[in-house]
Amino acid sequence: MRSEYKALLRTVSATASTTRPQLGAQSGLPRSSVASRVKELMDAGVLVETGQAESTGGRRATSLEFPEGIGVVLAVDLGSTHARWRLCTFAQEVVAEDGLPTDIGRGATAVLGPVVSQATGALAGAGPGVGPLRACALGFPGPVDFREGRVSGPPNMAGWDNAPLPQLMGEWLGAPTVVDNDVNMMALGEHRAKWAPEGVDNLLFVKHGTGIGCGVIADGRLYRGADGTAGEIGHMHVAGATTTEQCSCGGHNCLEVLASGRALVRQLRARGYEVSTAAEVAQLVLRGDIGAMDVVRDAGRALGDLVSGIVSFFNPSVIVTGGSIGALGTPLLAGLRETVYGQGTMFSTRHLRIVPSRLGADAAVRGATLLALELAYDAVLAQLKTPGGTLAAGKGKT
Ligand SMILES: [Zn+2]
Repeated sequence: MRSEYKALLRTVSATASTTRPQLGAQSGLPRSSVASRVKELMDAGVLVETGQAESTGGRRATSLEFPEGIGVVLAVDLGSTHARWRLCTFAQEVVAEDGLPTDIGRGATAVLGPVVSQATGALAGAGPGVGPLRACALGFPGPVDFREGRVSGPPNMAGWDNAPLPQLMGEWLGAPTVVDNDVNMMALGEHRAKWAPEGVDNLLFVKHGTGIGCGVIADGRLYRGADGTAGEIGHMHVAGATTTEQCSCGGHNCLEVLASGRALVRQLRARGYEVSTAAEVAQLVLRGDIGAMDVVRDAGRALGDLVSGIVSFFNPSVIVTGGSIGALGTPLLAGLRETVYGQGTMFSTRHLRIVPSRLGADAAVRGATLLALELAYDAVLAQLKTPGGTLAAGKGKT
């Protein structure tokens, strides 16, 4: 039931304005369901007819939109040194956006307080016409217990471990907040970037920056796993590796020790380069530095050693690389493609594309917007009465 309403709202949100026949085609719902659900949504003030007619197969159809003032959502992308936020309408139009330098090591209150005050200040300045803040989604650069909305055990991030982020943000914003790993947000954002005319249902988003992580879209949905750790590839061991370096997790031969931005900094410093961040390594690559290109290509091979097994098992149609190193494309992609196409099974790689992110630095904020909208749909569907009572008690899924 609730999923039908949300499917319709998602379609209107993605297209900004749409007709009933288009809603039926894109949501997969039968015409009769579309007609009755749309009527209920209009009665509750969640959708309006614009009166703007367009021709569909010789018949005129009325467009449906979200009404003005239905509200906005807040998407926040927290990085180690920088935070970005964006306020969007239900039709995903940007109302305001900004960012500020931060130090994630200072803890939840010190980092989120300034972000919240900047964003709420911008919302107040946007005027009453945009409507209330309906929901917020927060992307965190580390492991998150999605169900509880708690950051779990990040190294060197005192003041975050087990902080009740949804409650904290809810008190500040007066709106429900969902917290997820930033790589999951990136995967969600990139999934909607239409990698094929009909979209793709199975996609891996590999974030390669200071650390390495992977977001998994399986059968068209974000897959988090039983404990929310699906895609945590940074501490998987690379077969055949023999490094003497110890990983931050205490282990050896983790992918991160071999191939992360931190590892690349270490390798380049050993060769006499004065670099200290993954972003600086990316700058060297952009300038065409041969030494930097070499170590990044090798990192791509180590990544491919691990990812080729995942590809054989999972059979994605697209692997998207993002993050400060991954978004560069070549040379990481050269190493990654070489090993994945060389080692993956023929059946799993024959249609596989390995490509750099289309959204780049925007991927996480785009994904966070989509997650926040899912919460916002729940908020507005609570206004909708059904014969069996309100829908508010229903369970939503992302
Ligand atoms: Zn490790």
